[in-house]
Amino acid sequence: MINKLCVIGIGLIGGSLARALKAAKAVEHVVAVGRNTAHLERAVELGVADSYETSVSTAVSDADVIVVAVPVGSMKAIFSELSGNIKSSAIITDVGSVKGNVVRDAQAELGDELSRFVPGHPIAGTEQSGVEASFAELYNGQRVILTPLEETDPLATQAVTQMWHAAGADVESLSVEYHDEVLAATSHLPHALAYTLVDTLAQMHERREIFQFAAGGFKDFTRIASSDPKMWNDICLNNSDALLDMLNRFSGDLRKLATAIENNDSEFILKMFERAKTARDQNC
Ligand code: NAP
Repeated sequence: MINKLCVIGIGLIGGSLARALKAAKAVEHVVAVGRNTAHLERAVELGVADSYETSVSTAVSDADVIVVAVPVGSMKAIFSELSGNIKSSAIITDVGSVKGNVVRDAQAELGDELSRFVPGHPIAGTEQSGVEASFAELYNGQRVILTPLEETDPLATQAVTQMWHAAGADVESLSVEYHDEVLAATSHLPHALAYTLVDTLAQMHERREIFQFAAGGFKDFTRIASSDPKMWNDICLNNSDALLDMLNRFSGDLRKLATAIENNDSEFILKMFERAKTARDQNC
């Protein structure tokens, strides 16, 4: 049981964690932190949080577990504000979709508290954002990746693992580098592609009403382009090396497909599509 949980950024991800822990009776009191008082009041009204603060240093002072759930580009400032203001037993974790830069920010700001910082990333979400979009079942049966560091206290990792288990998730450990490579391929590249595809069409839409002819396939493929632009801007810029590798690789493959279409090369096209269909049918 967590006595006092402080969630900094009570949106979709932080709010769903608070809801899940409350539903599991795994937390006594949730204090929410954010910049916008109306959002924080709504979190209390919805029962996602029991109280709120707009000051990070005040909110974290008596918290047992602190979850940082703001966009990754805002985490450094949060680490700086909480450092020096937490209990000596408090455990810190985050939910950021990128781990390398978040870990570098924590190393720069946290001092001795770094040993009680457990970097994390729930592989669950929707294209919605804000506390209104949060729900207790979001993590049921989903994976959470932890990327503990050499200096991370194993007891802190254990406590964060237990917290996620209580929220319904399965927990795995990966290295920071491997996490960022894998997520660049499976999440960051698809989001970049969805945004680019919709934007390409949006620019054509100025000349022709093309979206009215968009059917289920287009909607399935581009659902994630409705995600929060600020959050995805931060993810792209904070995992730029791994994402650029994937974008270059993908551009090369797209170019090969264009050449095959140009050359009427049915053998190449069929082989590519069949490989892709088999991979998707077997793995997704
Ligand atoms: P969200 O719904 O927009 O929630 C973010 C929350 O952070 C909002 O409540 C916002 O509230 C608050 N916030 C933003 N900047 C802040 C700051 N500087 N100080 C204090 N509070 C701040 O976004 P989310 O989808 O939950 O994403 C949060 C984190 O989870 C991100 O790091 C993201 O990479 C990660 N993540 C997202 C997903 C996903 O699918 N959405 C999945 C896994 C991980 P105010 O505007 O009221 O301040």
